Amino acid sequence: MHNNNFNLFNQHFDDFDQRHLWHPYASLPPSYPNVVIDKADGVYLYTKSGEQLIDGMSSWWAATHGYNHPKLNAALTAQLSNMAHIMFGGLTHQPAIDLGKKLLSITPHGLDAIFYADSGSIAVEVALKMALQYQLSQNKPERNQIATTRSGYYGDTWHAMSICDPINGMHSIYGKQLPIQLFTDKPEAGYDTALTPCIKESLCTFFEQNQHKMAAFIIEPVVQGAGGMRVYSPEYLQILRKLCDEYQVLLIADEIATGFGRTGKMFACQHANISPDIMTVGKALTGGYMTFAATLCQRFVADSIANSEYSALMHGPTFMGNPLACSVSLASLELIIEGDYAKRARHIEQLLRQYLKPLATNHEVADVRILGAIGVIELYDTVDMPRFQALLIKHKVWIRPFGKLVYIMPPIIMTDEELALLCERLTQVLAEYWS
Ligand SMILES: *Cc1c(COP(=O)(O)O)cnc(C)c1O
Repeated sequence: MHNNNFNLFNQHFDDFDQRHLWHPYASLPPSYPNVVIDKADGVYLYTKSGEQLIDGMSSWWAATHGYNHPKLNAALTAQLSNMAHIMFGGLTHQPAIDLGKKLLSITPHGLDAIFYADSGSIAVEVALKMALQYQLSQNKPERNQIATTRSGYYGDTWHAMSICDPINGMHSIYGKQLPIQLFTDKPEAGYDTALTPCIKESLCTFFEQNQHKMAAFIIEPVVQGAGGMRVYSPEYLQILRKLCDEYQVLLIADEIATGFGRTGKMFACQHANISPDIMTVGKALTGGYMTFAATLCQRFVADSIANSEYSALMHGPTFMGNPLACSVSLASLELIIEGDYAKRARHIEQLLRQYLKPLATNHEVADVRILGAIGVIELYDTVDMPRFQALLIKHKVWIRPFGKLVYIMPPIIMTDEELALLCERLTQVLAEYWS
C-alpha cells in the first residue's frame, strides 16, 4: 500500500474493531481495516472523519431507497410506539397481514402462501424444508435431494451452503461435511445468448437421470449473484419450468437478490414469464433497514403439506413476522410500486451501458455485463483489496469487489447526476489501480 494512502486510510478505522469484531468472509484480525461509517443519508455514506462516499452497493442489494429515508423512518417509528415485537406463535398482527396482502399482489402469478423468515439464508432453508415436506406428502420420500446449477449462491447456513457452487463457492472447505446435492452445468452466460441444443439436452438428461431423487430445483432467476455475478438467458428458466412440470419437481426461484425491480422487472422470473412453485425474497424487502425475508409458495404446495401426515411446517424462528420488519417492508414495497423501480432500473441500465461498457476495451478487463441496475466489470486478475479499498476512500466511492469482480448495484433512487458521479469515480479508481 502506498504510504500516503495508508495515512489517509488510518483516520478511518478502529482498533477495537480490528482486534475483536469478525466481519463477513474475513479473518480476525482482518488483512486490511474496515472503514468506520458514522452516518448514512440518501446515496452517501459518511466516514468517521467526515468523508462523503457515494454508495455503489446498496449495502449488498438491500438499501434500494438509499439511507435514512423519511418514509421508512416514519413507518418504523409509528410501529415502534405500538409494539416492537410479539411472538408469532398463536398471535398475529396487522403489519404481518398488510405486508402479506401487498406481497401477494406483486409476486408472480399463483404464489399464495407466505412464511416470514429472519434472513435470506433462513428463507432458503424454509424453501428446502417445504419442498422436502411436499414430496413426503406426495408419498415420495425418496425425492430428498435438491438440484441446482453450478455457480449459484443461496446463503451461508448448512443446507443453503450445500447448494452453493461446490468448487468456486465460498464454502468449499466445508465440502465433506455438507449434504450431497445434485448439480448440473451453469447456464451459458449472456441474457441474449440463445441456448445451445447441447445445454438443453444436458438439462433434459439431468432431469431424466435424477428425477426420482429430486425434491426441487432451485435457481437464482436470470442473475446468479454472489456465485459470480453471471447473467443468463430467460429461456433457460422456461425450459426449467417445463422440465419441473414434466417430472413433478418443484421449481424454487431465489429472488433474494434479484427481486423488487433490480433487474428491470419487479421479479426476475418475469423476464421469462414463469411462476415458480416456491420463491424466496429478502434483502431489499425491508429497504435495507433490518434483516427479514420471506418464502412464498403456490397453494397446491401448502395444501399438499396440510393434508399429509406431517401437516405442520416445522420451522418457527423466535422473531418470526417481527412487526417492525413487517411495517418497514410494507412502506418499502409501497415506494417500490409507486416509484416504478423496475422502470427506473431499466433507465439505470441504459446509463450503466453508456458509462461502463467503454471499460471493456481495457486489456485488464475480461468482460463488462449489465442488467437493470447491476453493472459488473470482470477483470482477468483477482482484485488486490487493500490497495483497491484505499483508492476507493481517496476517490470517495464505496463498492466492494470480490475475486475478479468489480461490480455496482446502486440504490434505485440514485439520480442520473449521482450515477454519473459514481461511474466517473469508479473509472478513476480503476485507472489509478491499473497505473
Ligand atoms: C444474499 C443472498 C442469500 C442469503 O441472504 P442472507 O440474508 O445473507 O442470509 C440467499 N440467496 C441469494 C440469491 C442471495 O443473494
